[in-house]
Amino acid sequence: MAIENVVIIGSGPAGWTAAIYAARANLQPLVFEGNVGQADFQPLGQLNLTTEAENYPTWPAADGEALAAFSRSALPPDRYAYISHLYEGRDAHHGKRAATGPEMMQWARQQAVNFGTRVITDDIIEVDFKKRPFNLKPRDGDPVQARAVIIATGARANYLPLPSVERYKNKGVSACAVCDGALPLFKNKPLIVVGGGDSAVEEATYLTKFAKVVYLVHRRDALRASKIMQERALSHPKIEMKWNRVLDEVLGDEFVTGARLKSTVDGATEELPVGGVFMGIGHTPNTAFLKGAVELEANNYIKLTVPFRTNTSVEGVFAAGDVADSYYRQAVTAAGTGCMAALDAERWLAEHGE
Ligand code: NAP
Repeated sequence: MAIENVVIIGSGPAGWTAAIYAARANLQPLVFEGNVGQADFQPLGQLNLTTEAENYPTWPAADGEALAAFSRSALPPDRYAYISHLYEGRDAHHGKRAATGPEMMQWARQQAVNFGTRVITDDIIEVDFKKRPFNLKPRDGDPVQARAVIIATGARANYLPLPSVERYKNKGVSACAVCDGALPLFKNKPLIVVGGGDSAVEEATYLTKFAKVVYLVHRRDALRASKIMQERALSHPKIEMKWNRVLDEVLGDEFVTGARLKSTVDGATEELPVGGVFMGIGHTPNTAFLKGAVELEANNYIKLTVPFRTNTSVEGVFAAGDVADSYYRQAVTAAGTGCMAALDAERWLAEHGE
């Protein structure tokens, strides 16, 4: 079996940036990008589930046509097909806008491929870091050996641990407005978003495009989201705040028809007729597949062992992006640490004559 120089697990901004740097260092990186439907980690990361990324440097709002032209010139037709809906058809965005997360991830993937990165659409489900070269087991394909590994599997959205939430998943309960918001199930219905951070506010704002009204249910009386996002939500005519409330139960028949909220102040409950409930209550890192192979923090994020570096508890294994960052969790910080991880891996390989 050929031994890979660097295997990168994960395909969000951290994974692709690591791949671009490793490829340009002639390390011929191999990326396991995850596989839709099975993955612990989402192909193209959480950015692929978002709308416009207004805070990513170098992409000020541009004409939608210009972004379409850019995508057509940068991507081969089979990859352009994944985002053509942004430019063509009923959902096309006309006028000026920032680049969206899905566009940026397709561009980043292509950039990595252009420099010789190989990509496998599969999950790594088991790792053995006890001896070098490291062993990695994909779900479907043959095992792989690697001299160095960069873990960039990110994090995923949390769901409230209520049986009714579980029961109505994909029947009106979702954690991704961008993926599901346009479904007929939610059209012109009142909807609920739970949470008070950037994700919740972004989801609520996005859902106003389809919903009759969006109730933003937050357990406190102040939002955690950034000021600009707060202002947009609080001044939006279709967003109604439900302060000091938690979701007590999702109600429905085959599909969601309502929700019961409970006051965090006096325990009073109220029922709202709604067609959908969206979770915006934070994230869990995708580290389960590591099964103790590297040291984790108490919150299950990967522990970085050297300040301002991407080293983990295993020599030759590096971590980048949200999987090792419960604090910043931004596309640009993920990309930055992806670059750092590739440079750390390159230097480590050189120092160890590998
Ligand atoms: P977050 O900032 O951790 O916010 C989670 C929210 O859910 C908080 O408001 C929290 O309430 C609430 N929550 C948590 N557990 C809950 C529970 N069991 N019941 C009810 N409410 C609960 O997570 P996030 O919004 O997903 O954001 C994660 C990171 O990504 C942040 O750094 C954020 O800035 C970033 N992000 C940025 C953008 C952007 O810039 N466009 C978009 C999305 C996310 P409390 O406030 O009371 O703790």
